[in-house]
Amino acid sequence: MTENTEKRGFQTEVKQLLNLLANSLYSNKEVFLRELISNASDAIDKLRFAAVQDQSVYGDDSNLHIRLSADKEKKTLTISDNGIGMTRDQICEHLGTIAKSGTADFFKNLSGDQAKDSQLIGQFGVGFYSAFIVADKVTVVSRAAGVAPDQAVCWESDGTGEYTVSTVTKADRGTDVILSLKEDDKEYLEDWTLRNAVTKYSDHISVPVEMLETVKPEKKDDDKEEDKSEDNAEEKAEDKKEETAEYTEWKQINEAKALWTRSAKDITDDEYKEFYKHISHDWDDPLTWAHNHVEGAQEYTSLLYVPKHAPWDLFNREQKHGLKLYVQRVFIMDDAEQFMPGYLRFVKGVLDSNDLPLNVSREILQDSKLTSKLKSGCTKKALQMIGKMAKDENQDNYKTFWKEYGSVMKEGLVEDYDNREEIFDLMRYASTHNDNSEQNVSLQDYISRMPEKQKNIYFLTASTYAAAASSPYLETFKKKGIEVLLMTERVDEWVMNQVTEYKEKKFVSVTASDLDLGDLEDKEEKEKQENQTKENEDFLKKVKEALGEQVTDVKVTNRLTDTPSCVIGQGNQMMTAQMRRILEASGQTLPDEKYTLEINLDHDLVKHLAAETDENRFKDWAQLILDEAILADQGALKEPARYVKLVNSLLLNK
Ligand code: ADP
Ligand code: MG
Repeated sequence: MTENTEKRGFQTEVKQLLNLLANSLYSNKEVFLRELISNASDAIDKLRFAAVQDQSVYGDDSNLHIRLSADKEKKTLTISDNGIGMTRDQICEHLGTIAKSGTADFFKNLSGDQAKDSQLIGQFGVGFYSAFIVADKVTVVSRAAGVAPDQAVCWESDGTGEYTVSTVTKADRGTDVILSLKEDDKEYLEDWTLRNAVTKYSDHISVPVEMLETVKPEKKDDDKEEDKSEDNAEEKAEDKKEETAEYTEWKQINEAKALWTRSAKDITDDEYKEFYKHISHDWDDPLTWAHNHVEGAQEYTSLLYVPKHAPWDLFNREQKHGLKLYVQRVFIMDDAEQFMPGYLRFVKGVLDSNDLPLNVSREILQDSKLTSKLKSGCTKKALQMIGKMAKDENQDNYKTFWKEYGSVMKEGLVEDYDNREEIFDLMRYASTHNDNSEQNVSLQDYISRMPEKQKNIYFLTASTYAAAASSPYLETFKKKGIEVLLMTERVDEWVMNQVTEYKEKKFVSVTASDLDLGDLEDKEEKEKQENQTKENEDFLKKVKEALGEQVTDVKVTNRLTDTPSCVIGQGNQMMTAQMRRILEASGQTLPDEKYTLEINLDHDLVKHLAAETDENRFKDWAQLILDEAILADQGALKEPARYVKLVNSLLLNK
């Protein structure tokens, strides 16, 4: 330690993360290489970007590269880059804290179950700290661009609670990350292990990755064809110089061509998957991807991916999302959210535009016409990519997709009017056609099963599948054999209030007060209902009087068979119980709901009520029939105690 050495503690979250890394994540060890190479490549991207404004940042070192070297004696593996580097302040900020928003929430989400946590942490991206998976000491020596050689900084930690920083001398610009490997992880000193891993993680990045190679000079007689190629001209010259001694030199081992700039037909699935992991830090393969070069009015390349798992903070407003933006191959920014609508915020990938200016900023992007054109292009590409999965004969991927993102996709029906039709095609719902809660019925399926007479698409929103499936509103539909879509997510009701039709078929809620079955209505039934109403005018009036203010009307219904009664909200802009709960939970005060009570005259309970002569008991029975209907509809009563008392007294016949 020198005089200028300073000891500092890690931020609490970093300590938690390091603990987790040291104790659990053995199955995915290799990710440390991906993360460190990824950081080195980011640092070089940042230097290139800075050079767009000011060429002088390159100094006399414009040959950008990442280098890996292993020292078997010292048992160290070093990853070096000559990128942007870090100052003393930056190193403390970047390698002592976690800047990601919602970090605290993330840690709350950890379960202690290793398998699950490892999944989560993969999504979170452990970045630099993954070095401690294989190293018991990590030393980072960095010299930022434009900083004097004797003002470089050395950061060191054993990955427990603290780290030290000191000022040191470093000849070249950039960063060396030196890993002192754990006893069990010596394999990362082996040339072939490294080569394998590095090619896997770096073939698609645009920076050359180099490793030292031992060159054995060959005798002239052995000279083969390949030595005649231009690439080897230099080597050949050197060969001649040192014909006897072995020597080492840096050799590029990756392709070093940004993946998305290559032609799709030359890229393997594995390369696409690795590139996804590079940009997303996910440990899992992506669900699907789409790679498009677009020419014409705008020229751009997009490479979009759908992750297999929704991010843990998908519904957090501050969640970082968006594409990695490049302009003419130069990296501009991460998380450019301007190119994807909100409902596609889970899409990851790269957008490389030829038309945006190199000095583009978030502010400029915000209100540029070009941005909205690119957004519309990328949105279409993303929807096509998802649509392809939806049409796939093997539905496994789409099932996963729908489970992870279905409720977010529904937001698109309201958010993205232009693409509403395409988004509707992607919807999957539970339905009375099935006897389980699986959301696997598309609107096309539904329409294909509609009897000729049926003009509308019928749906029911409820708070759970069980409540929906046993809803009394379905009785008449069951009797007539008409399919009803069962929608049980919070977002459904909001969406269904805003959309009116699909392919010229109107959406009709089965709980609508003016439920019109059109041609599906049975003439006989309708007549029966009218007759019953006429015949029971006095009875209906009496029930209404008994219930007083609680109801706006009491009617005879033919939508029920096994249930005595149901309640209907007011008007066509009816609010279901579900919506009411959402609004109330958000702090709005709503006027008491008044209901129209519909009763089924064929039901024994209603017959019993009609036969009741005692005025008080008539009131009680009427109240019971109303309460039951409200309970079935809302899943709760305002005064449950009163209801229990009422039931008890009726049961005991008091
Ligand atoms: P992320 O890369 O997602 O930001 P990391 O934990 O991998 O998270 O790295 C944290 C930060 O440390 C980076 O954002 C960067 O600012 C800095 N950093 C890490 N490695 C390097 C490097 N080789 N050169 C320059 N800066 C680096
Ligand atoms: Mg990183």
